[in-house]
Amino acid sequence: MSTEKVKCLIIGSGPAGYTAAIYTGRANIAPVLYEGLQPGGQLTITTEVENFPGYPEGISGTQLMEDLRKQAERFGADIRNGIATSADLSKRPYHITIDDEKVIEAETVIISTGATAKYLGLEDEQKYAGMGVSACATCDGFFYRKKTVAVVGGGDTACEEAIYLAGLAKQVYLIVRKPFLRASKIMQARVINHPNIKVLFEHNAVGLYGENGVEGVHLVKRQGESDEERYDLPIDGFFLAIGHKPNSDIFKDYLDTDEVGYIITEEGTPRTKVPGVFAAGDVADPHYRQAITAAGSGCKAAIEAERYLSANNLL
Ligand SMILES: Cc1cc2nc3c(=O)[nH]c(=O)nc-3n(C[C@H](O)[C@H](O)[C@H](O)COP(=O)(O)OP(=O)(O)OC[C@H]3O[C@@H](n4cnc5c(N)ncnc54)[C@H](O)[C@@H]3O)c2cc1C
Repeated sequence: MSTEKVKCLIIGSGPAGYTAAIYTGRANIAPVLYEGLQPGGQLTITTEVENFPGYPEGISGTQLMEDLRKQAERFGADIRNGIATSADLSKRPYHITIDDEKVIEAETVIISTGATAKYLGLEDEQKYAGMGVSACATCDGFFYRKKTVAVVGGGDTACEEAIYLAGLAKQVYLIVRKPFLRASKIMQARVINHPNIKVLFEHNAVGLYGENGVEGVHLVKRQGESDEERYDLPIDGFFLAIGHKPNSDIFKDYLDTDEVGYIITEEGTPRTKVPGVFAAGDVADPHYRQAITAAGSGCKAAIEAERYLSANNLL
């Protein structure tokens, strides 16, 4: 297997990875960044981004990511195709294997591999992606002002998303598979008592319909042990809130993660428990998961990497 030594390896090409590349590039560290399966990250599958500061008219997700990439390249970042397939963080230089065929020996590593939203697995979720299906209320709720939406899920996140959307939409349906909510008591009370939210217990969404976007959801309501009722509910937006999967599997033997898989860092910093290894963006953020917060933590990780290299005479 071929090997290559680098001062700073960045894994992932979302807002966190590209921002880390801009900062480490400008610090003259010559970062190497591997893009992974989704060059540009999650924003490349959305249409309009209206909440990234600096774009008063909004910007398309692909354009924003292309701009960030160009900005990183301008300062010398070496951006490559490839997936990190395994990692050995037991000692420095850290060994990251790319595509099972090449080992990068890195003095510092910035992990910015994101977290993937979970979907129900319905074909219609793909069909209506960006046309009424969303996994992020903060990102897309604004497009559904005074409209009717459904949120799928029964945990704290689903309740939070439902409450957020209830401040914008005319009516929110919370579709819950079980006969109860898993959320904390306080969240349950807020949802149940909210005048704009109706909870549909023991309901499953089994499909979506609509001509040029989502116009409704096909529901199945369980009635007792074996009986069920099928009906259609008109909605304009369908929000998934059934969790995310942080892309942290290959690092788990060396880093602390929470029960879901989010990498745990020292509070307020991207420092992991391994010196010189930093985690930025959604992979370490169960709370905010926004492009701007990811970019912000990518910046912090880059500054940390530069300081670490400097303190260890590795520059
Ligand atoms: C449909 C949609 C719409 C959204 N809209 C908005 C919005 O309007 N505003 C907003 O602020 N946020 C929005 N978000 C959220 C935003 O996209 C994320 O918070 C942000 O992209 C997170 O950035 P990140 O850099 O942490 O990771 P991501 O953007 O998730 O990128 C992760 C990167 O890591 C790479 N990767 C993963 N595993 C590996 C590996 N093993 N090896 C190499 N590379 C790997 C992937 O290829 C990808 O490039 C939206 C999300 C979605 C899904």
